[in-house]
Amino acid sequence: MQTNFSLAQLADPHVAESEKILRKCVHCGFCTATCPTYVTLGNELDSPRGRIYLIKDMLENGRPADKEIVTHIDRCLSCLACMTTCPSGVNYMHLVDHARAHIQETYKRPLLDRLTRAMLAFVLPYPARFRVALKLAKLGKPFIGLFDKVSALKPLSAMLKLAPASIPAASPMGSPGIHAGQGTKRGRVAILTGCAQSVLDPAINDTTISLLTRLGVEVVIPPGDGCCGALVHHMGREQAALASARQNVDAWTRAIEQGGLDAIVITASGCGTTIKDYGFMLRLDPAYADKAARVSALAKDITEYLSTLDLPEPSRKPGTVVAYHSACSMQHGQKITRQPKELLAKAGFIVREPREGHLCCGSAGTYNILQSEISAKLRDRKVKNIEATGASVVATGNIGCITQIASAAKLPVVHTIKLLDWAYGGPKPEGVLEESLIAAE
Ligand code: SF4
Ligand code: SF4
Repeated sequence: MQTNFSLAQLADPHVAESEKILRKCVHCGFCTATCPTYVTLGNELDSPRGRIYLIKDMLENGRPADKEIVTHIDRCLSCLACMTTCPSGVNYMHLVDHARAHIQETYKRPLLDRLTRAMLAFVLPYPARFRVALKLAKLGKPFIGLFDKVSALKPLSAMLKLAPASIPAASPMGSPGIHAGQGTKRGRVAILTGCAQSVLDPAINDTTISLLTRLGVEVVIPPGDGCCGALVHHMGREQAALASARQNVDAWTRAIEQGGLDAIVITASGCGTTIKDYGFMLRLDPAYADKAARVSALAKDITEYLSTLDLPEPSRKPGTVVAYHSACSMQHGQKITRQPKELLAKAGFIVREPREGHLCCGSAGTYNILQSEISAKLRDRKVKNIEATGASVVATGNIGCITQIASAAKLPVVHTIKLLDWAYGGPKPEGVLEESLIAAE
């Protein structure tokens, strides 16, 4: 695509990067066919190509964002299906991240929208605040119907609907410390404690630590790590995202210097996509660029890391039929498609893949709160495809997808690691019904 940026504009490294991306797009439109918002809304401006034109026009003319571009960029899930489809290697992720930061800097949203976004950025990345908010949500649940009737209050209604009825107790295993591996030492990794997942389902990381240590891997939780920054990054709050990235880079760099790390293991693929991008996000910061690149190179999804170990035969072969839902951040963001399914199959599960697996479930960070109507359409489509597999449990590797799909599916939705842990001698995952087992032994 031809671009018309002035030399002065190109002196800004963010604009220069976006210009490089824009020039790669050849307008072919292949990406529209796999874009969930285009498939749902049928509007070219809600397709990757349409958004690319809008972003190009805004950046080239150096003008502030307007209502039209905000509407269509806000509807983008950042699912990155377009990047998987694009034959020209257009890095839509970096382009839309730049557009979101530009919107945040130059556009004044309506008051309620601003308040909602400020509240999400203040609460979600901080486990203690999120825990309090979930407790307060119980008081708000009776008003869901009322909030649903006012368009500007729909995000509040969506939040209350998503809030779980009960919140698990905080896990002592998630505190800073070292979990020694059993038997012969096979590796040393750090694990991201994260934010929302540690409140909604701390058992995901507990299970991961338990399985890894049984396999002989030492697991370190260094003091000072926290939210990866993805939630605020996707809202265009660039400085807040970079602050989270620097904090994590510092924590993991200390762990590397104090004993080395084979990997930084991540159990939420949304976080994994962002951490693998720290090297790019901090490339312009001379104090962090190298350290961030090292962290990104070490970042591994738990299934990616487990695939590098020579796993023993599972201690049981459950034979359960599992629908594997590949989170967008897993398949499009990190291009991890093979490992989770292979691990599940090797552990004795029968893996089925739902139709339209490339389409997002509508979770997408805060999307299911801020764009609840499109999100609900995508969720219902996803659940229909999952239930058509005839599976008795859904496995996936991202807490956002777990919460989203579980809010509408009749079958239990669990993190992949819980099924793997079960097959390798751990407890049966909560929510997986005994009746769903098909004895294979
Ligand atoms: S990231 Fe997803 S929703 Fe956004 S343009 Fe690409 S395919 Fe469409
Ligand atoms: S598939 Fe790639 S090159 Fe083609 S229109 Fe979409 S982004 Fe541009």
